[in-house]
Amino acid sequence: MFKQSKQVKPAAPKGKAVKRVYFFGPGNQTEGKADMKDLLGGKGANLADMTTAGLPVPAGFTITTDTCGDYNDAGQVLPASLMAEVRANIAKVEKATGKKFGDAKNPLLLAARSGAKFSMPGMMDTVLNIGLNDAAVDGLAKLSGNERFAYDSYRRLINMFGDTVMGVDHHHFEHELSAVKADRGVELDTDLDTDGLKEVVARYKKVYKDHVGSDFPSDGLQQLEAAIEAVFKSWMGERAIKYREINDIRGVRGTAVNVQAMVFGNMGDDSATGVAFTRDPSTGENVFYGEFLVNAQGEDVVAGIRTPLDCKTEMAKWSVKSWKELLEVKKKLETRYRDVQDFEFTIEKGKLYMLQTRNGKRTAQAAVRIAVEMAKEKLITKEEGILRVEPSSLDQLLHPTFDPKADKTVIATGLPASPGAAVGKIAFTAEEAEQRVAQGEKIILVRRETEPADIGGMHVAEGILTSTGGMTSHAAVVARGMGTPCVAGAGMVHIDAAARTLKIAGKTYGPDDYISLDGGKSPAGEVYEGQVPTVDAALTGAFAQIMKWADEFRTLKVRTNADTPHDADVARNFGAEGIGLTRTEHMFFDPERIHNMREMILAGAADVEGRKKALAKLLPYQREDFIGIFKAMKGLPVTIRLLDPPLHEFLPHNEKDQKALGDSLGLSLEAVKQRVQQLHESNPMLGHRGDRLAVTYPEILEMQVRAIIEAAVATKKAGIKCLPEIMIPLAGTKAELDYLKKITIDTAEAVFKETKTRVEYMYGTMIEVPRAAVTADELAQTAEFFSFGTNDLTQMTFGYSRDDAGVFLPEYIKKEILERDPFQSLDVGGVGKLVDMAVKLGRGVKPDLKCGICGEHGGDPRSVEFCHNVGLNYVSCSPFRVPIARLAAAHAAIKAKQAPAKSAKSAKPAAKASKPAAKIAKPKAKAKAKRK
Ligand code: PEP
Ligand code: MG
Repeated sequence: MFKQSKQVKPAAPKGKAVKRVYFFGPGNQTEGKADMKDLLGGKGANLADMTTAGLPVPAGFTITTDTCGDYNDAGQVLPASLMAEVRANIAKVEKATGKKFGDAKNPLLLAARSGAKFSMPGMMDTVLNIGLNDAAVDGLAKLSGNERFAYDSYRRLINMFGDTVMGVDHHHFEHELSAVKADRGVELDTDLDTDGLKEVVARYKKVYKDHVGSDFPSDGLQQLEAAIEAVFKSWMGERAIKYREINDIRGVRGTAVNVQAMVFGNMGDDSATGVAFTRDPSTGENVFYGEFLVNAQGEDVVAGIRTPLDCKTEMAKWSVKSWKELLEVKKKLETRYRDVQDFEFTIEKGKLYMLQTRNGKRTAQAAVRIAVEMAKEKLITKEEGILRVEPSSLDQLLHPTFDPKADKTVIATGLPASPGAAVGKIAFTAEEAEQRVAQGEKIILVRRETEPADIGGMHVAEGILTSTGGMTSHAAVVARGMGTPCVAGAGMVHIDAAARTLKIAGKTYGPDDYISLDGGKSPAGEVYEGQVPTVDAALTGAFAQIMKWADEFRTLKVRTNADTPHDADVARNFGAEGIGLTRTEHMFFDPERIHNMREMILAGAADVEGRKKALAKLLPYQREDFIGIFKAMKGLPVTIRLLDPPLHEFLPHNEKDQKALGDSLGLSLEAVKQRVQQLHESNPMLGHRGDRLAVTYPEILEMQVRAIIEAAVATKKAGIKCLPEIMIPLAGTKAELDYLKKITIDTAEAVFKETKTRVEYMYGTMIEVPRAAVTADELAQTAEFFSFGTNDLTQMTFGYSRDDAGVFLPEYIKKEILERDPFQSLDVGGVGKLVDMAVKLGRGVKPDLKCGICGEHGGDPRSVEFCHNVGLNYVSCSPFRVPIARLAAAHAAIKAKQAPAKSAKSAKPAAKASKPAAKIAKPKAKAKAKRK
């Protein structure tokens, strides 16, 4: 839980020469390997590997991630030896290409690209055409026989270098480009002739000088050094940090920089550049999925400036040879990497080059389909298929889709960039989205095109709509990664962010208007007016298949926390194997019942008869609730937790409601106020709640136990099996459990006698206070099962109030004092230790003691893995997290099998790990010990 140190790996020892640069290129000279992602980043390791595999990769070298770490640790100073090593490697690239860096006649141009261990789309910076200057541009023109291309490349360098390295806002360059195009009466960049581009270069240089204060550097090495620094700096930039935060990327020191010989997609109409996935990252379908632009360079495709062409339908029309080569590449990449690849390519005068490949980001829907199909194709094993699907990503599949029967008015269509149904009000900037979501609104973020700085707003939005850009534009890629529905490139949508209007076909929508969007609709994503109703998700197709496979591997059972027959039903459909927690108090908040509850509470402390009278009115309600749940669970175990919250939570706190309550009970307002006052507690979470209520007012427990047992009898009589587990909340001592157990048994026996019917039931306890955990061997003598209430156990172990921790916990996370919120993901080092200890102590007394967890952590994949490893019998979570927990449990089982030595330590059944204290009496062999 606690981070030991912010620095993951120490900087290289002083004085010792460190290898910082790894070459890749022809003739067995490649120094990197596929498994060197930590040091070379994902892109660097894969460039080395693709080169080794004989794929056409332009020669280059990778500067290590450690160098970036060292650079930032040293206060943003490049290591002294770095540039000498870079120069030596440039010499190798010169040899491989037959060109010379800085040469006026035969210039070698370089690209510098970032590449961390984990891909961070749009987060880091790229500079192309490094090495161009006034002399080299002429050399390039002569060499390529294409002066236009040379000046196009030059203006791109000045723009990219000025923007990403020196921080000159891109729009200053854009402004000049538009001015030159307007002067010359052309619309597209590609329509500008050489003279036009020469003018653009001159204007760009002026923009550069005006904003930077010095001339654009003509020395290639100086350009490269500055570009390397800029990439290293961007690692610590706000948007990169935010991306890592959102994606929980930790323990990585920095990004690598990949420097590579330039190849050109903008050398004419026989050149192109593109990006592609080996399968559809949106649906998972096994088809080539890519886009390309003829006579274009690098970032044009992802930037969404020109709308690219679909490779599948257009590439063969342009070049059959290139299309065939790309299909071959698809096969080769998947066979080698055994996963979907997201790759970039450039075709220079008809010759194909690979610029990068990496595992493709995909939607949850695609991840599931790809995992299932690749396992069926025997490209991967079933276990690998299961491990490929991130349990928490299933959340995307469990959420509603639009009701097919609902009336919808389609107001726009665009690319189906990220599937799912989203409904919300319109926000026009990322900041606006963040602010309004913080105020509780549901928002659709509407932008011409998103950019990396929008990441925060994109993260909180229900859905994203853009008016430009393709399937691989920033909005599309990031939305898919986040699982946020997105319709991209809806060209008929006119967005005016300043005026906060969205105009479609003459109609104007503003920030208070609702729109709905479906980012998975085929063949086009759709935008609808207003709020379209949704329907629940179903577990079918590949999703059902992966769940089935998960069940084959997992050993941990998955139950649900459900308080109503409807929730129980939903959970059963998602595969719940029982109920791990029914919070009975939720049943009392119903308007019909709250009155009787209040009547019960308002009875004076000594007025046992008054309380019993009110409780008698609540009994039939409770019984009916339990019958409904038992029937829904059809014989699966149902754990019912007796009343837990402090009583004052049920009372009205404003005078109007207090008066109404008093009137209905024949009490004065003053009397009601007085009782409310009496029930006030300074520290209710540590006050009169949990089993303390039952100890002071046993009649509450009697009513609830009676309702449970009568419901079980009625269910049995209706021919349906049921297995109630009566659970005591917040116990801390064996004596409490003993006292309450006697009343429980007496009450149950009375019902059996009255109804002449016996049913099985169990009596157990929650482990929610540290004392219960450390004396679990004593509690296990009375309790027949344990259920870890890790919400309260976390609260009481840390001493962090569940209700108040929101004020300071975010600061703890931000400052990395805590790695994550312990209320969301179990604190393995502290709370987990108590859980582990309690399981061992309990099973030391009762080797078969059933142990589960019902706190929020039961649906958190990390915590589920922990629960598997400490040998719990089940986890219990909210209905919609049941599939997530099933998959997480399978992950845990597979990982434990793959690393038996590591997990065996903690996973051992507790029986012999820790003996119960000798003086504790052996548990009496009670009849109920047999119940399961
Ligand atoms: C718990 O404390 O973990 C628990 C499940 O109970 P509640 O959240 O109702 O306090
Ligand atoms: Mg609790």
